[in-house]
Amino acid sequence: STAELIENEKISSILLLAAGVAHELGNPLNSLTIHLQLIDRKLKKLKASKETRSLEDSIKVCRDEVTRLDGIIKNFLEAIRPRPPDLAELYLPDLIEEVLHFQARELADRGIKVEGEMPAGTPMIMADRDQLKQVFFNLIKNAMEAMQPGGRLSLKLRADDDSVYVALADTGSGIKTEDLAKLFQPYHTTKVSGHGLGLMIVQRILRDHGGHVGIESKEGVGTVVTLQFPQKHRRVRMLAGG
Ligand code: ADP
Ligand code: MG
Repeated sequence: STAELIENEKISSILLLAAGVAHELGNPLNSLTIHLQLIDRKLKKLKASKETRSLEDSIKVCRDEVTRLDGIIKNFLEAIRPRPPDLAELYLPDLIEEVLHFQARELADRGIKVEGEMPAGTPMIMADRDQLKQVFFNLIKNAMEAMQPGGRLSLKLRADDDSVYVALADTGSGIKTEDLAKLFQPYHTTKVSGHGLGLMIVQRILRDHGGHVGIESKEGVGTVVTLQFPQKHRRVRMLAGG
């Protein structure tokens, strides 16, 4: 459902933010480990007394707790590692229609017209349905957020011998040349309430599918996002190592 997709996007965003924080904690923890070791060594060189022994005990507790924190962080990062795609035969026009249907209400509310060119007989691909829903949801959302009422979103599918391509074009604000290189970086956003993770997730999912995402844009004119997916027959050969 739409709520699920929105929830998924929120959850993956929150997890990525948390992963960023967890990753950042690594440096101060390393520094703590090194300095606790130093203090411990210096203490052991002092004349032993009740005080030095009590301090050594405290340092032991600190070192154990640092090890414990390190373990918690490593487990957390492992637990939220994105799962590999669960591949099954998929017909892209149906999936795109489904996602458009989810977002029809918001598209209408924003006064955006949708045009689709999805030729019947588009070749099958091997894909993870939920992950691809997330891809189109994120891209359509970005397009909506870039457009004013009266804007047009067009979705076109085409295929060659090996791949299926989807082009999503919008008549939105476009992207500044200097921002083009940053689009897939986590946390890059030009929006007040953006999180800058949508395109990073899209790129990761496309990569996990053996595909590719490219973005062309002109400020004040619009943006075209192109997705490339290997066709089913190619994907099957790739997996078989051929
Ligand atoms: P967010 O939407 O949270 O900002 P994204 O990763 O989805 O994060 O997008 C990153 C940035 O890329 C956006 O803030 C915006 O500046 C730009 N962008 C993405 N898609 C479009 C688009 N269709 N039109 C204009 N700018 C876009
Ligand atoms: Mg976005």
